[in-house]
Amino acid sequence: MDDCLFCKIISGDIPSTKVYEDEYVYAFRDIHPLMPVHVLVVPKKHIACADEVDGSNSDYVAKCFEAIAKIAKAEGLENGYRVINNCGEDGGQTVMHLHFHLLGGEALGLNLI
Ligand code: AMP
Ligand code: ZN
Repeated sequence: MDDCLFCKIISGDIPSTKVYEDEYVYAFRDIHPLMPVHVLVVPKKHIACADEVDGSNSDYVAKCFEAIAKIAKAEGLENGYRVINNCGEDGGQTVMHLHFHLLGGEALGLNLI
């Protein structure tokens, strides 16, 4: 996807602060962190949003969650954390490449973000 911000970050055309990478997943720090730890976990395959997940690409979603567990340990989030996916306009999604926000480092309230 030539015009996708996160595809360009994955390819290295746009710089990012990488925290994790494997064959399926790229993870980097959010440019506007909302918490002490705010990492975006992104499948290396362009999937626009959660609505597009199906049997042909759900392995990438599983790999994202395997990565989240590893990143949480590496970031010292043994006390817990929150994973958020915004989907579509009403969900507040601003970058149309599936991603999971990994948020932690202090106690979270029940507020929605
Ligand atoms: P969402 O609103 O769920 O689509 O989340 C998009 C996230 O991408 C926001 O939290 C932004 O702060 C973050 N973001 C946008 N551009 C960049 C960038 N170049 N590097 C890192 N994070 C970014
Ligand atoms: Zn993309």
